[in-house]
This record gives sequence, structure tokens and C-alpha cells, in this order.
Amino acid sequence: MKFGGTSVKDAGRIRAVEAIVRTQDLTEGLVVVCSAMKGITDDLIKAATLAESGELSYAKLLESIWKRQQEALDDLFAGTSMNQKEAKLAAQGLLSSMYREMQEICNGVFLIRECSLRSLDLMMSFGERLNNTLIAAYFRTVDLDAVFVDARELIATDDSFGSAVVDFGRTYDTIQSFFHRHWGHERKGKVALVTGFVAANAEGITTTLGRNGSDYSAAIFGAALKASDIEIWTDVDGVLSADPRVVKKAFVIPDLSVEEAMELCYFGAEVLHPYTIIPAVEKNIPIWIKNTFDPQKRGTRIAAGVPTSLSSITGLASMQNVGIINIVGGGLMGTKGVAAKLFVAFAKADVNIIMISQASSEHSICVVLREDECAKAVATLKTELASLLEGKLVSSVEWVKSVEIVSVIGANMRGLPGVAGQIFAALGLAGINVLVIAQGSSEMNVSFVIEQKDHHQALNVLHAAFFPEV
Ligand code: ASP
Ligand code: MG
Repeated sequence: MKFGGTSVKDAGRIRAVEAIVRTQDLTEGLVVVCSAMKGITDDLIKAATLAESGELSYAKLLESIWKRQQEALDDLFAGTSMNQKEAKLAAQGLLSSMYREMQEICNGVFLIRECSLRSLDLMMSFGERLNNTLIAAYFRTVDLDAVFVDARELIATDDSFGSAVVDFGRTYDTIQSFFHRHWGHERKGKVALVTGFVAANAEGITTTLGRNGSDYSAAIFGAALKASDIEIWTDVDGVLSADPRVVKKAFVIPDLSVEEAMELCYFGAEVLHPYTIIPAVEKNIPIWIKNTFDPQKRGTRIAAGVPTSLSSITGLASMQNVGIINIVGGGLMGTKGVAAKLFVAFAKADVNIIMISQASSEHSICVVLREDECAKAVATLKTELASLLEGKLVSSVEWVKSVEIVSVIGANMRGLPGVAGQIFAALGLAGINVLVIAQGSSEMNVSFVIEQKDHHQALNVLHAAFFPEV
């Protein structure tokens, strides 16, 4: 089970997690992966950045982080019996020494005015470490057989600080032998509180799995231990058919195929870190998305196999603040190797391509990127394609800002004629202009680009067109 930042943000929410854990079947033992309290990772990054730029206010920010952990501790350990007081002292000791370490590292950053990605990973790790230490200690005072586990000892990665790549072979072995040693065959009633998000490289230096990486941590542990289920506990009822802030009639999708879930997550449904699905699929373990604020609700189940959407589509996702780069020129027509040059240039610019479309006239190639990466990409393209530009084979590299990708997703679309017609008819009727269109050959995703001002209307007309009964 993984609990996200909102689900463990204070003492009240930690008690709610305890209540959920108590309803579980603990015969086989339970691994619980928790995030930092909501907002703490952001604050840790902010503190490190302030320290790096010589702003003394970083110290205040660290204190405010500490205050939140301390308040939760005071609340959770309010008991007055001798045992409880001793338990509180012990927990307080563990947390304080971590806090001192965190202060010292930040002081170091302040002194040398430099915070590498490696140091930042170490700074960020405190959010998960403090919180899981606290929760494990609290669980013990309420008679759960709980231990704190630092995932840095178990998840092995490379050196890509900030978003490290997992070495699955080593990680699975280490996790399995750890639990074998500590739990043996007597797993009944045992609960391990594991830090999400953090890992370590081969030398034991702290790394992280990328923002929102705790979902991924949970899937890694689930896969290593061949869990029956991987549950991602969050603050919504499941994966929704569209963003509920925009589409009032959005509903929870009960079942999603693995491919649909990947497409939805990739294109902006924020419920799940997209990597989470990889280890789960490989070991054929279903992932559930559940709501901590309403644990009775069934949630969404993601698993391999046939999707059960009643409509021809399953859901809508959208990604705002993207830009289009258009590479136009007569020389693109029939000339071999131009596309290769283009994509090499994008790779050199170190930008991520979200969507590609080429008209069959071959007169232009259009690529969609995150808006904040466009300037860099255009500059690199102009340098890399200089000879083509000079020879007029490429006439221009244009850039359209502030647009949005909408993605219509569903496994039922495969082989079903008329879905694209229905999509663009609905948009046409609403007078919405479409700038770019692409369909993956998996036929599970039709994506198109619109202007951001049409966001609300586009999602609503499509939702109404495909889910008329809701
Ligand atoms: N605490 C980390 C973050 O905010 C990881 C997570 O919550 O999943 O990105
Ligand atoms: Mg999350």
C-alpha cells in the first residue's frame, strides 16, 4: 500500500491510515510505503535553493518543516502512561537527530553556495525519512508490529540524481533477502513502513526516483515480494474519465487496461506516476487506485486484459502549456535523412518530444513539446539545421506557444471505425479549431492540439458526446 502526501499530511491523516491498515488482511504481512507530508518535498527544495543563493531564510523554512513533524508527534504520542512517554522520547530522539543532519547539510550548502543534484537528492530524502520513522513509531504504540525501513538500503539505482534509473536485478534480490531475513516465514501481522521516493546508487549515495516517485517505489516492492495487489492510496476516488475540475460529469473508471492507464497517465491524469505500471505488469500484479478519504469506495483497478468500458472510448486526458514547433520546407519532400537530422537536434537540445505529426505532402513536420523547452529546442534546431536553412531546403522553424494537447483514450477504439469522426464532429460543432492531429498506431489514442482558451469547452463536448448517459 502506498499513501501519498495528502494522506499522511498530519496526525489526523496518519490515524486514518492506521485505521485503513487495521482493516487489511495481515496474514502475509504488509508493506506500507509513505510519502513525505504534503508540501514538504517542495519546501526542502526551496530551502536548499535559498541556502544555495545565500539567503538565510532557509533556516526558517527548515524550522517550519520540523514544526509540522513535531506537531504530528505531539498529537500522536499524547498518551501519559510511562510506556507511552518512553516511546515518545525514543521517537523524538530519532527525529531530532535526522533534523540536525538536515540542518547541517543545508548549512553546508549555504556556506559553499552550491547545491548539486546529488546534494538535492539527499535534502529531499528527509521528507520521507522523517515521516516514515514517525509513522512506524506511532504504529508500534498502538500495538501494530511495525518497523521502519529505509529504501535507500534496498532500491539500487544508477547515478542519475534527481531521477535515477532502477537496477531491477539487484533491487529485487536485495528486497527479497531483506524480508527473508527480517520476516522469515512468520509474516503474520507484520507491517513495514518504507520510505517512498528514495533509493541509493552502488556506492550507497542517496538518489531519488523523480518527483511523485513513491508510487513507483510501492510497485517495486510489490513486484519484488510478489504481492497480491499494489494499492495506491490517494485523495480521489480513482482514475477519472476526465479532469473533474473541468468536466462536472467526470466519473471514476472502474477498470483500466495497462495500456490505457499508461496513456492516461502520460497525457496528464495525475493519479499515478507512469513508471509504476512497469514492474506491476511484469509480475502481473493488479494496481488499485483508492481514496484514503473514502476507503469504502471500490476505486480503479488497472490490470492486463480486456477493458470493460461501455463506451467506444475510456477517458480523456489533457496537457496544458505545450508548444508546437513546425519545421517547414520544400526540401523535406522526399529527401532522406531529414527526419533523422531533426530528431538528433531535439536530442541534442535535451528536450522531450510529446507528440509528432507529419502531413503526407511531407512539406512540414510538426513536433509538440513542453512550452518551457521550446526556446531551447528552436535555438538548437536552427544551429543543427543551418546548412539546410541556408540551402533553402528548410524554409522556416516556427513556434506556436501556449497550446494544449487533448488525448482521447480507449482500447475499444482499436478497429472501430467512426471514433475519429465523432471526435472531430463534436469539436467542429462547437466551433473549436484543431491545430495538429496524431493517432498512435496502437489505435488506442487519438491526440490533437487546440488553443488553451478552448480547454473547457473541448473536454466538455467530448465527454458529453461519448458518455451521453452520465
Ligand atoms: N515526496 C515526493 C514528491 O513530492 C515523492 C512522492 O510524494 O511521491 O515528489
Ligand atoms: Mg502522487
